[in-house]
Amino acid sequence: MFSQSRHEDLFTYQSITQYHADLLNGATTCVAAVQHYLHNIDQKRHLNAYLQVYDQEALQLAATLDAQRASGKPLGKLHGVVIALKDVICYKDHPVSAASKILGDFHSIYNATAVERLLAEEAIIIGNTNCDEFAMGSTNENSAHGKVLNALDETRVPGGSSGGAAVAVQAALCMVSLGSDTGGSVRQPADFCGIVGLKPTYGRVSRYGLIAYASSFDQIGIFANNVPDVAQTLEVIAGPDDYDSTVAPAEVPAYSAAINSASTPLRIAYFKEALESPALDNEIRTNILGLIDRLRADGHTVEAVDFEYLDYVVPTYYVLTTAEASSNLSRFDGVKYGFRPADVEKKDLPLTEFYKTSRSDGFGWEVKRRIMLGTFVLSAGYYDAYFTKAQQVRQLLVEKTNLVFNQFDAIILPTAPTPAFKLGEKMDDPIAMYLADIFTVFSNLTGIPGISIPLFWHSNGMPYGLQVMTNRFRELSLLQLSQQWMLQYRFAG
Ligand code: GLN
Repeated sequence: MFSQSRHEDLFTYQSITQYHADLLNGATTCVAAVQHYLHNIDQKRHLNAYLQVYDQEALQLAATLDAQRASGKPLGKLHGVVIALKDVICYKDHPVSAASKILGDFHSIYNATAVERLLAEEAIIIGNTNCDEFAMGSTNENSAHGKVLNALDETRVPGGSSGGAAVAVQAALCMVSLGSDTGGSVRQPADFCGIVGLKPTYGRVSRYGLIAYASSFDQIGIFANNVPDVAQTLEVIAGPDDYDSTVAPAEVPAYSAAINSASTPLRIAYFKEALESPALDNEIRTNILGLIDRLRADGHTVEAVDFEYLDYVVPTYYVLTTAEASSNLSRFDGVKYGFRPADVEKKDLPLTEFYKTSRSDGFGWEVKRRIMLGTFVLSAGYYDAYFTKAQQVRQLLVEKTNLVFNQFDAIILPTAPTPAFKLGEKMDDPIAMYLADIFTVFSNLTGIPGISIPLFWHSNGMPYGLQVMTNRFRELSLLQLSQQWMLQYRFAG
């Protein structure tokens, strides 16, 4: 995937476990690992995956970790693991912009809880990655810092909104990355890039220090090459946090230790309407039906369930998330921090004009569209018709989901209706872009965990994934079955 170099001779990466074994037997070092990724990042700058690379800091921390290991200190769970952060996750004293002009050169003044926990387990943060502005998008084309290219076909999008974080793992520019998933922004880019992407249960990982898009949907998620790396990272970042009362008090299982436990035959559901959807690419449909046959042949029960609400999930998602976004983004006004138009002070504008100028200049088109839509659905006269109605649909979806999980252990769906789009393909048609979220928004509306695992190749040369979901806080069984299916069914289609 990248050009031959001396770094390749020194370092290759398969998994955190293998890396740790190599570190302990002296086959490699943290410094060699960081050098390897810095070299790859340099070779692949044109993909535009990273916004900032913390090369000197990363090398220094790697050297410190190498010395500590040599002195016999036991390894932290993420010792020397080279990690990238989506540009919506706060890392103290480092820039964070949500890929928006409105944050200017703002630097975080504190660490997100997830970052605090990564650092406590000795991870090395190598940089922050490009994304759609305020995580609004499905292609990474809405970034104020330019688009990101899919490393497998540079004429295609990597997906979004966490496109840079996905490509960072896909193109071997780090080992693991953190993204955020409000309506699919980890699972869909993982699908388009051929890697693993997990959105945990709402309330599994603290949102403290994650720039808010839609607070009742947002979750930090994880990209990696394999399921055990996801498990190891989740174990570190998950769990109760005094700074986020929406995190469940439930104890975090030791995901990584239990990942290989064999599961008994499972009861698996799929939504009939999803596989019959006219939007679904035929080849994806055929391959998923083929996989269902294999699952049955291997002893699992797989049944179609009626899901009559499929057509409502996208509108419900866009009413509720834009409503929340219009409130969350009201804090960006050019007064206390971030971007302020150059000559605005000289003009001596009234306060509202000042706000208007900074916000009109600072936000991109998609963000403005959503703020307006959200303001509209919350406005007097429309509130009940849109916002209240959408909340009711959300409640129905939760009830339906509970019923499904009374009978089944997991739900499978395609992650996205098609493989990665061509760059620019959907930019002039926001509705078409929104409709492509049809299979991912369900788990955010209901709060359940979802993963995309790269099981398939399309005849157009692109990879795509299977989406698997379990009930709330059942990440352990989700990770176990994903691990088993990756070993059993990868590239079977
Ligand atoms: N594509 C979805 C949207 O544009 C998902 C975004 C996300 O998960 N952050 O809202």
